[in-house]
Amino acid sequence: MAKYPFPSKRAPLYRDVPDEQWYNWRWQLSQRLNTAEEIGKVIPLTDSERKALNAPNLFRVDITPYFISLIDPDDPEDPIRKQVIPTAAEMVPFTAMMEDSLAEDRHSPVPGLVHRYPDRVLMLVTTQCASYCRYCTRSRIVGDPSATFSRQEFELQLEYIRRTPQIRDVLLSGGDPLVLAPKILDEILSRLREIEHIEIVRIGTRVPVFLPMRITDELCEMLQKYHPLWMNIHVNTPNEITKELAEACDKLTRAGIPLGNQAVLLAGVNDNVDVQRQLVHDLVRIRVRPYYLYQCDLVEGAGHFRTPVGKGIEIMEGLRGHTSGYAVHQYIIDAPGGGGKIPVMPNYLLSYSDHKVVLRNYEGYITTYEEPVDYLPERAAKFKGEKRPEPGQSGVHGLLQGEQMFIKPENFDEVHDRHGIQHRLKDEKKWQPLGIGSGMKETA
Ligand SMILES: *Cc1c(COP(=O)(O)O)cnc(C)c1O
Repeated sequence: MAKYPFPSKRAPLYRDVPDEQWYNWRWQLSQRLNTAEEIGKVIPLTDSERKALNAPNLFRVDITPYFISLIDPDDPEDPIRKQVIPTAAEMVPFTAMMEDSLAEDRHSPVPGLVHRYPDRVLMLVTTQCASYCRYCTRSRIVGDPSATFSRQEFELQLEYIRRTPQIRDVLLSGGDPLVLAPKILDEILSRLREIEHIEIVRIGTRVPVFLPMRITDELCEMLQKYHPLWMNIHVNTPNEITKELAEACDKLTRAGIPLGNQAVLLAGVNDNVDVQRQLVHDLVRIRVRPYYLYQCDLVEGAGHFRTPVGKGIEIMEGLRGHTSGYAVHQYIIDAPGGGGKIPVMPNYLLSYSDHKVVLRNYEGYITTYEEPVDYLPERAAKFKGEKRPEPGQSGVHGLLQGEQMFIKPENFDEVHDRHGIQHRLKDEKKWQPLGIGSGMKETA
């Protein structure tokens, strides 16, 4: 049963560090590596890595001793290495590259709060992380210690949430909320819990992966005061799943926090069906439910990590049906320009008529599902509660509910207003000069 009987290996540089220090999260944070000189003592650097580490204005580098120890120093293609050690490829721009590819700033009613969906908000509570991912979607703000969020901004965020009762879900992210001083995180959670319409709070964090020793009993005790609390971690490859991570997840789960995983599809790191299968299997073994697999965003510095969308579809084809449904994440493209998360998957619905659906399964077996011919939509279950309003955002769902007949692109009416005359086919006087209308009938 125990797949991880031994602590993960330590790089030779850390062999003599006493356990009290190695397993102390403050020590790990204070010993993070960020220069070519420091990193070069653990891993022989390639020219490309050395060049990037010495370049000015590169997105922040910091790696915990624990995480860098998971890298195979002799493998320049190591999938953990690529996630945290920059290469010269980061400095190469690409078409469609953007600074704020998800248009988060435009969706922020107050600084640090992103309100994109009707019922939930993303709250950026810090710019700091335990280590920095080279493909960070928020590299425009993350890592910059001078851009950290102030108490005044926090009060504005709370105020906005308080006066927006449609918000029922608050997602704390950043940066990484779990690197905040414990007292501050405690205060943020307790202030959010005072707001009656907040049903759930979730935390997006990579601390269990970069710094599993941070998941202490005291932290779990603090977190469990704020249930229902959910958490998403961020594991991209099976190599990141260690005894230390398994223990951290076990603590969180025992504190009643359901754990999910958000992975990013990265070229040369996890763009392989077998790697993905191993990843999701290893995650469910430590009771982490694979949640999303993201297509890499169009963010500066991440061009070399991008894969075609077809790679993601191919991976999903290799998971669904081939393994436990619990192990299958959803593949997501976060819409450039700010449309939000869009699920993408292979087609399983081949065709349908007014009474029959043709489907295929993962093996290629094709079947038909006969639909009922006596279904009465007006007898559908009644909802006795109060409907949640989604002003302006009911979307295709709104079309199906009959709230609207169409959704028009911006300026649709102006674009289609050709200042023409009203079409009246029977008005012969108007149509005669063009030789159509009743005149056509005579020649036909
Ligand atoms: C990802 C995200 C959420 C949460 O989305 P879910 O699909 O509910 O996990 C909420 N707000 C913003 C701005 C996001 O980017």
